Amino acid sequence: NNKEKVCLIGSGNWGSVIAKIVAENVSKYPDQFDPEVRMWVFEEMIEGKRLSQIINEKHENVKYLPNVRLPDNVVAHPTLLNAVEAATLLIFVIPHQFVKGACDQIKGHVNPNARAISLIKGVDVSKSGLRLISDVIKENLEMDVSVLMGANIASEVAEEKFCEATVGYRNEANGLVWQRLFNTSYFKIAAIEDVEGVELCGALKNVVAIAAGLVDGLKYGDNTKAAIIRIGLSEMRKFSKLFESNVKDNTFFESCGIADVITTCFGGRNRKVAEARVLTGKSFDQLEKELLNGQKLQGTLTAKEVHIILEQKGLCHEFPLFTQVYNICYEGHEPSAIIKL
Ligand code: NAD
Ligand code: 13P
Ligand code: CA
Repeated sequence: NNKEKVCLIGSGNWGSVIAKIVAENVSKYPDQFDPEVRMWVFEEMIEGKRLSQIINEKHENVKYLPNVRLPDNVVAHPTLLNAVEAATLLIFVIPHQFVKGACDQIKGHVNPNARAISLIKGVDVSKSGLRLISDVIKENLEMDVSVLMGANIASEVAEEKFCEATVGYRNEANGLVWQRLFNTSYFKIAAIEDVEGVELCGALKNVVAIAAGLVDGLKYGDNTKAAIIRIGLSEMRKFSKLFESNVKDNTFFESCGIADVITTCFGGRNRKVAEARVLTGKSFDQLEKELLNGQKLQGTLTAKEVHIILEQKGLCHEFPLFTQVYNICYEGHEPSAIIKL
């Protein structure tokens, strides 16, 4: 048959929420979508049992999204190649440090009609400079890649509390397929033609969230936090335009822009761990393990990746907030340096 078959590559905190949304939506449009949604699970053992097996039996991701029922048409697969084999719609939702490994495994084994979307908030840095994660996927798998970013703390979306997200597309027809697959009454999707702007918003706001957590830990108050948000958003725009001059100003007013910066600076994991960094003096790596139960931080790595690019271009001084976050995370500077802007 010629129905679209969906596969999620990833089953963490956000991946599991997205599986729920997408599985509900494919059931709403049975003429367009195959009813089964496959979800690749990076296998691990939980009390002697395989996580993929637990998900298929209990319809719950007991480790990464406990107490939320996943629809019965979500089917967990521990083998990436089996998960993706027939899919025409690939949803990438893994921490950004794992995307190259996933692409290497499936390169040459995907459906020639497949398209992808990246929900991954991060960037890639190599000798040739900065690369979007969506471009890493596109170059490896030779397919059109859209992105979805937004103000979406996973636990709140799981509870179906109203929020918005932004799809960035290059191919409009594909953008509209993704909008239909994700949009619900409580998860409102706007689609715009600005992949670079949408994706860089999603990646860079995690660096701003680290800064917000540091000022929370230092008890600097609401005005300081608002200043961090303003300066952070303006560095996000400036950095994005450095990478791609056609990034649109309006993108920063979409959910992927201002709204995601706000929600992550108040409710996100990057904020929480950065606050704990100040309160406990422990390292980010240690706190990620202690506080997140296997979930991953994206902001500290992204601060390093952004810093490499700014050094290459000799532009650190034009990005004081990004540079201070890097210095505090990697160069042993005191957290109070965050307000030396
Ligand atoms: P998560 O932080 O819960 O990450 C843990 C996942 O990574 C688990 O599924 C784990 O099995 C997997 N993993 C561990 N080692 C791996 C490896 N070597 N290879 C592949 N997978 C491995 O994941 P998440 O919250 O779903 O985040 C995925 C992306 O979505 C991130 O870029 C994040 O920024 C973004 N995002 C997250 C949220 C949120 O609120 N959680 C919201 C929006 C976007
Ligand atoms: P954290 O990874 O900081 O929790 O941010 C989640 C997110 O991207 C909310 O939109
Ligand atoms: Ca192709």
